[in-house]
Amino acid sequence: MTTATAAPTATGLAPFSPPGTADHAAATAAYQLAEPVDPVAATTARSVQDVVDAVGAAARSGLPLRVSTTGHAAGRTGPLAGSLLLRPLLDGPVRVDPRTRTARIPAGRTWGEVLPEVLPHGLTALHGSSPTVGVVGYLLGGGVSFYGRRYGLAANAVRSLTLVLADGRVVEASADEHPELFWALRGGGGGFGVVVEAEVELLPVHAVVTGRAVWDVADAARLAPVWQAWTRTAPPEVSTSLRVLDLPPLPGLPASLAGRRALVLDGAVTATTAADLPAARRTAEDLLGPLRALAAPVEDTWAPAPPGALAHVHLDPPDPVAFRSGTALVGELDDADWPELLDAAAGLVSLELRQLGGAIARPPNAGGVVDRFAAPLLHYAVGPAGAATSERLAAVREVLRPHLTGRTAPGFVDRPDQPQRSYDDETRARVEGVRLAVDPGGLFAGDVAVVRDRVRGEGRG
Ligand SMILES: Cc1cc2nc3c(=O)[nH]c(=O)nc-3n(C[C@H](O)[C@H](O)[C@H](O)COP(=O)(O)OP(=O)(O)OC[C@H]3O[C@@H](n4cnc5c(N)ncnc54)[C@H](O)[C@@H]3O)c2cc1C
Repeated sequence: MTTATAAPTATGLAPFSPPGTADHAAATAAYQLAEPVDPVAATTARSVQDVVDAVGAAARSGLPLRVSTTGHAAGRTGPLAGSLLLRPLLDGPVRVDPRTRTARIPAGRTWGEVLPEVLPHGLTALHGSSPTVGVVGYLLGGGVSFYGRRYGLAANAVRSLTLVLADGRVVEASADEHPELFWALRGGGGGFGVVVEAEVELLPVHAVVTGRAVWDVADAARLAPVWQAWTRTAPPEVSTSLRVLDLPPLPGLPASLAGRRALVLDGAVTATTAADLPAARRTAEDLLGPLRALAAPVEDTWAPAPPGALAHVHLDPPDPVAFRSGTALVGELDDADWPELLDAAAGLVSLELRQLGGAIARPPNAGGVVDRFAAPLLHYAVGPAGAATSERLAAVREVLRPHLTGRTAPGFVDRPDQPQRSYDDETRARVEGVRLAVDPGGLFAGDVAVVRDRVRGEGRG
């Protein structure tokens, strides 16, 4: 067992810094601007010893300790007021081992920072759609990648997680060491400790066929059912996302999207080797051909590309933004739902259905709490923070109600009051047992994403 004990050295609230200091400002910077990030004191940890010191100081202070890396999910776990905040941004390189096809990633890295380290080895990772999302937070929430239907949820590719527990111990959790903790970490909702390093399996991907096809929104209700019918028999090498985007006329956006409402189909077909590329091209053609024949796209960039291109195809906003979102794992929509859905989503920036299935639906041998999503589609909708967006998100959910599975992908939940349920009661009790064993005093209790009970009329838990 890899276990070390380090004595805390700080006293009082140090190393946490009060508001008005540079340390506090840096540690509380968050991508999600809709939530106040207002802890009593905050600090950035640059080393494992910094984390140990911060955990010790928090335990002595009697204040709860919260963890945030990029703040993409700054609102998921409720208000920070009255807490201490730790931002693990550890120094040190990403260590890639091309022989075992693994990488050891220090906490704090984003996927956009990790990819340049792994791509030169002819490898890539099960990263998500946005390069600015933090690796650790993404992995702990399951991790839905455009490689997912071929290789499964990213959490299943985690070999080990090294973390600092509430009592200051540094442990490595893996299939062999602390296996129950390793199981609970991967999808259990946080509150187990501060992850300082993640070891992940990498993927041998030669190329992707990827891009963005854009149509006027007037064609959406005709095209969407064709896409959905295709998803039923699509091979696992391809993962796609269908969105209705309504973006402001911002500089830097493609002309096809700036200041207009449009239907966008993006994603990727994976070519593991050069020999797979012709088949990958054909798969993309099978998808896009019938859609192009129905309505001419106003933009169509689908083409073979190096795997690094996949981190940028989805056009997630790179800079902090105040947003509200809604999400759910859903079954197949009826063709007649689309016009209603388009109406309900008017004014939202994005209404997305992400294609699941394939390896995302198949559990591996030794996965974590969240090791698969059984639903065919993941719904995620976003708008600017405010009452109007909340109303529209509720209206969209109403249209989707007959298709809600009662389950949610935990990584996409942004607020504690969102309907969410990622596993059943028995599993939940097991997760809570692990949490109690590693954090009996509840130091990290505020960092736990609430797993709400079954939502009335929204399927079985
Ligand atoms: C624009 C955008 C695009 C996205 N795209 C995808 C996607 O394609 N696929 C997908 O699966 N998800 C996606 N997500 C969701 C994303 O994976 C989650 O929001 C994730 O939790 C973000 O992790 P973070 O560390 O960046 O954020 P943070 O808000 O910093 O962290 C979220 C939570 O993770 C935990 N955490 C973070 N770091 C640590 C640590 N070192 N130790 C212990 N706990 C920690 C904490 O509990 C924290 O509350 C997207 C989100 C956004 C906003």
